[in-house]
Amino acid sequence: MLLVLALLACGVPVWKGPAGTELPLPEIPGSHLAEITPYLLPAAGTLTLFVCHWDPKRAIPVALPSDASEAEAHLLSRALRAWEDAGLGVRFAPADPGGGALVFAFSAQETADASTFADCRIRKTPVDAAGGRVLAAELVRAEVYLPRSTRPDLRGHTRALSDSEQMGIALHELGHALGFQGHAQRDSIMARDRDELVRRGRRVLDGASCDEPTLRALYALPSGTVLSRIAVSPFRTERFDALAALAEERAMAGPIARVGDSEARIFFVTQAGEELGMEILEPAGLVRHPERLALLADPAARRALESGQDAAGNAAATR
Ligand SMILES: [Zn+2]
Repeated sequence: MLLVLALLACGVPVWKGPAGTELPLPEIPGSHLAEITPYLLPAAGTLTLFVCHWDPKRAIPVALPSDASEAEAHLLSRALRAWEDAGLGVRFAPADPGGGALVFAFSAQETADASTFADCRIRKTPVDAAGGRVLAAELVRAEVYLPRSTRPDLRGHTRALSDSEQMGIALHELGHALGFQGHAQRDSIMARDRDELVRRGRRVLDGASCDEPTLRALYALPSGTVLSRIAVSPFRTERFDALAALAEERAMAGPIARVGDSEARIFFVTQAGEELGMEILEPAGLVRHPERLALLADPAARRALESGQDAAGNAAATR
């Protein structure tokens, strides 16, 4: 009896998605994977929430900032090594300048915050009707923007970041680049808590590895693992469905999904290299309220959809 109670108390970590959907997550103590903001695929009257990471079988080509000092390049290399030693299975390889799938840059503005995006390529769309639990999807590109100085204080003063601050920020942004979007509440390099990042940054500078159960749990799932799949009104996904049909017809690459704190994006790339896509508003909120799904097409996507419709209309008219 006591044992049963103890087991119930510990419980298996569970992803709790919209409309009561649940998925057991890897049992790794200290993992905050349940707090992830998932990637989104809004297609064919279905909103699919899924996780995405790099294929650990292939080394990730990394480009350091072209204007990094020797000390900055050394610090970033140590941040990368800390993640290589974190038990995810990922490896990094130096890329030529201008190349790289994971690209670092220093923020152009002196006082800009750090930011990262990580693009997930979905290879099969629309989602298979059988309700498969894993999409063919993996990260293909990430860009990490790092600040060199602190945020301005109340008097507008800033100062250069210390090594521990730089390391903490680099480790956190790399966590996003490796596939964890959103933030953990606490006890994680993926928390928003700046003091926590600095502490962890200092530990790594002192020679510790980056012990991060949340990312280990993420990489314990196959990339593309579906967390939730929810039926929504077909009206809510019709813009994406029309774009996906056009993309298929014109042999565009994608779809590619991106997700941040306040907005997500899904897009295709034309053969000329132009992005055609749409914003998905309030991605984190959709975990609770999928019925609020709203897609906002870019001007370029709108134009392509309108001309696609015209072409289809003309073809029908001349038939
Ligand atoms: Zn963050």
